[in-house]
Amino acid sequence: MSNRPVSLVTGAGRGIGRGIAIELAKLGHAVVINYAGNANAAEECLRLVREAGGDGVAVRADVSASADREHLVQETINAYGRIDLLVNNAGVAPNVRADLLEAGEESFDRLININLKGPYFLTQIVARQMIGQVQRGDANSFGPPRIVTVTSVSAYAASVNRGDYCLAKAGLAMMTALYAARLAEYGINVYEVRPGVIATDMTEGVKEKYDRMIEQGAWPIRRWGLPEDIGRAVAAIARSDFPYSTGEVFNVDGGFHLRTL
Ligand code: NAP
Repeated sequence: MSNRPVSLVTGAGRGIGRGIAIELAKLGHAVVINYAGNANAAEECLRLVREAGGDGVAVRADVSASADREHLVQETINAYGRIDLLVNNAGVAPNVRADLLEAGEESFDRLININLKGPYFLTQIVARQMIGQVQRGDANSFGPPRIVTVTSVSAYAASVNRGDYCLAKAGLAMMTALYAARLAEYGINVYEVRPGVIATDMTEGVKEKYDRMIEQGAWPIRRWGLPEDIGRAVAAIARSDFPYSTGEVFNVDGGFHLRTL
């Protein structure tokens, strides 16, 4: 059994997930670095996690596959015996951005399976594990277990060329509310972190569009968000700074959500 708090971060090999893993490592966490296929990126993340003062293991699992979700949780328990923090971060963009009037079901099914169904049922398995820990009085310095889901401004901003992505993120926002309501009796708080435009592989293909928008002041803080910005928000939750908040949404978006006149 690990003395360190144990975090399971999905899609942690690259991008935002890596940023989260590193910030949690700075708090001394053992981080289970889940990835889908890019083992090299996951190994590099593991090296950075150790360098930052954490411990970790990399576990390949496709969050959209039921058996893989079970495997991921089992590997976490095998390695560390507990889960203190689940971070649902893994997600994909549509393979092709297609207009709402043209987009096909294949893309919809792929995206919903990875971005919505995966975290919904992974959270169910992890929640059961966390409830067991709470009922056994199996506490450590971390305090009660917590769950964080990384959504997007796409939970409310309509992009008509990636409706499936927006629907998945809106669904994840409700997922946070549902699990927050269900798990409060066990002392398990549930949070949503809602990034704006963050510099990762996901946004590399639309870099020029966002560069232009930033230049034109499309959101008040005129820069790209960084994986570290999201990591620091998750680390604040991990430090237990919000014990009387659950179902809370943390906008980490440079002020994108503000309406101005
Ligand atoms: P990214 O750079 O493309 O990285 C995606 C990560 O998710 C990778 O580690 C990838 O694993 C993993 N992944 C993909 N499909 C998976 C699956 N089926 N099972 C397990 N892991 C899977 O993306 P990102 O920009 O960091 O995005 C991370 C999250 O933030 C996503 O949920 C995304 O929707 C959200 N988000 C991003 C932005 C942005 O501007 N970048 C804004 C708002 C929200 P491999 O490395 O093995 O491929």
